[in-house]
Amino acid sequence: MKTKIQISHILTEIARMYPDIRTELQYETPFQFLIAVILSAQTTDKQVNKITPAIFARVREPEDMAKISPKELEKMVSSVNFYRNKAKFIWQSGEKLVREFGGIIPNDLWKIQTLPGVGVKTAKVVLGVLYDAPYVGVDTHVHRVMNRIGIVRTKSPEETDKILEKKFTYEQKMIIHHPLVLFGRYQCTARNPKCSTCPIREMCDYGRRGLISEGKSI
Ligand code: SF4
Repeated sequence: MKTKIQISHILTEIARMYPDIRTELQYETPFQFLIAVILSAQTTDKQVNKITPAIFARVREPEDMAKISPKELEKMVSSVNFYRNKAKFIWQSGEKLVREFGGIIPNDLWKIQTLPGVGVKTAKVVLGVLYDAPYVGVDTHVHRVMNRIGIVRTKSPEETDKILEKKFTYEQKMIIHHPLVLFGRYQCTARNPKCSTCPIREMCDYGRRGLISEGKSI
């Protein structure tokens, strides 16, 4: 397991690799961002960005969902995984936001999770981007990276989420979500992680094992 100082060094390096990037999802209004995040589960941001312009041309705010039928929405998102459920969740979330929250996405981790299709990961990503809230949304990338480095030893993203909530400081949570996601997406990839060019290799359990097997001194 890593010490607080080691974690601090590791996160600083990762944050340095991806400065000034908040999200790769394209949107203009908070509700459009919520839609994009719901669509992005098990789908690439690139794929989401391809289909959202047609939706966003008709939907800016939660009230706009009343102008579009669930079936119509289902058709518009049919190229992404789990599109039926995602269309249903988006439509119901719009309806609930209007009915219970005055059309405003609640800045509260528990209240936002009462929206259909919004689990803890989605909630943390949305609050982090829209309200600069101190959360790390643990997706499969973040879960994999944390285990490879040796910051956690966990079996599921949910377990990783609970541990990181305690391990990371407020300041670390404020800056590290997007760099970590991008680091997992482009550097510490699921297959063939790019360890030879990784700036934290000597601090990473998986990377160090590779160095040892290559016969390099560490
Ligand atoms: S050294 Fe390799 S396994 Fe470790 S964080 Fe870097 S890319 Fe991932």
